[in-house]
Amino acid sequence: MAMPSSACLLYLNSPPSPPSLYHVHSRQSFPQSNNDSWFQLGRRTTKLPICSSISKAEADVRKENIVIVGGGIAGLATALSLHRFGVGSLVLEQGESLRTGGTSLTLFKNGWRVLDAIGVGNELRGQFLEIEGMLIKSGDGRELRSFRFKDEDESQEVRAVERKILLETLANRLPPESVHFSSKLSKIETCENGETLLQLVDGTRLLAKIVIGCDGVRSPVAKWIGFSKPKYVGHCAYRGLGYYPNGQPFEPRVNNIYGRGLRAGYVPVSPTKVYWFICYNCPSPGPKITDPSILKKKAKELLRNWPEELLHIIDVTPDDTVTRTPLVDRWLWPAISPSASTGRVVLVGDAWHPMTPNLGQGACCALEDAVVLGRKLASAINSGPESVDRALREYESERWPRVFPLTIRANLVGSLLQWENPVVCSVRDNIIIPRLVKLGTVLEHTNFECEPLMAGEKS
Ligand SMILES: Cc1cc2nc3c(=O)[nH]c(=O)nc-3n(C[C@H](O)[C@H](O)[C@H](O)COP(=O)(O)OP(=O)(O)OC[C@H]3O[C@@H](n4cnc5c(N)ncnc54)[C@H](O)[C@@H]3O)c2cc1C
Repeated sequence: MAMPSSACLLYLNSPPSPPSLYHVHSRQSFPQSNNDSWFQLGRRTTKLPICSSISKAEADVRKENIVIVGGGIAGLATALSLHRFGVGSLVLEQGESLRTGGTSLTLFKNGWRVLDAIGVGNELRGQFLEIEGMLIKSGDGRELRSFRFKDEDESQEVRAVERKILLETLANRLPPESVHFSSKLSKIETCENGETLLQLVDGTRLLAKIVIGCDGVRSPVAKWIGFSKPKYVGHCAYRGLGYYPNGQPFEPRVNNIYGRGLRAGYVPVSPTKVYWFICYNCPSPGPKITDPSILKKKAKELLRNWPEELLHIIDVTPDDTVTRTPLVDRWLWPAISPSASTGRVVLVGDAWHPMTPNLGQGACCALEDAVVLGRKLASAINSGPESVDRALREYESERWPRVFPLTIRANLVGSLLQWENPVVCSVRDNIIIPRLVKLGTVLEHTNFECEPLMAGEKS
């Protein structure tokens, strides 16, 4: 895979510790700070600070500038945003590799703006179909509404992207050794000078100037900052990726079928793959089921009297793509919820604002976070710790009004679509969906402008 030119530049001053844990990033083509920067790379003048866990064995603590915990969409997009500005980071991922299973994510135009800004939009576009519109049916097969996205908004762009390919594409644009696998964070501690000591499950210890928690919905970093566990919203989702080796037969549109306490849908992803989902009410998250044959059987049972084509897509779904996920979210109440950052530890993506997938915005917002934080941090780090603190505060002030309302809206849309009461469902299917819903307004939240991230830019 082609590397951006900045990845080929000179790497400065490899530190004397095991090379596998270090990546020192080139800043050759970027503005150099005139002062003896707090963040100056290649110089390690800082004394190890006082931390209860740093004792005699100072030598085994590895120093890093920016450590990103979690190699999912948020983590890799944040690393790539920083990299575009010439700022290196180390990504710690608990898994042995990038997530290989899983299905796809529908990305709207805000997601594509970010992917373009970090230089991977066109590479992904070439692999995934553009989805032209949406068809909504009731469980008995009656058409309730259909529309084309571009009729509502000429600039709208919708594609379902395989998560695995999205992750690989982001990771491939990072310099080698940027992502460290089998690196599970187990403990965090703040030191007196504001640096953060991270301990991994394998005993590795890292001292970081800045820590970015991109560790997803069950984020240990968020827990350490003081966030509560995300809350189960009362429904679960089955998902899978149907495979048609000789070509899938569907039109490029999102197909949604609404029932009572149950909805399902599918969307073509590529010429051979079709993503499907089923969302059903369930009083508790229930036990974790991993056996794909049981998952498929249960998914099909839910759709007993529904259109056959969905059952067929489930039948042609490879086992490793079928999942069941209890849906959760966490509302960022003003004055009640903790801040997105404490000291120089900050959250991005699901770690900060887990939201239900009803608007298809979780990953899109994680991508937005990544470029906003990347731009702010990149312009602040050469000016010292105070400007980094300011950048983290500004990141939160800019992102909170965006993600909090979306989290609530996604939750409310989910509740509306999961109604069970037959009278209420009839009003939804005969009045609200066909007559009242205005798509242009419904998709307004996908407006997000983002200029390309480039080295040397002033924010
Ligand atoms: C059913 C469903 C459908 C969805 N559909 C869409 C959609 O259509 N469009 C959309 O935009 N969004 C969608 N989403 C939301 C989207 O999946 C998430 O918002 C997105 O994955 C968030 O990315 P993230 O990087 O923040 O978290 P994650 O993708 O969860 O990544 C977190 C990473 O951190 C790692 N990690 C965790 N703990 C540690 C640790 N202690 N140490 C090291 N690493 C750690 C994990 O292994 C993982 O790789 C959907 C979600 C669900 C549940």
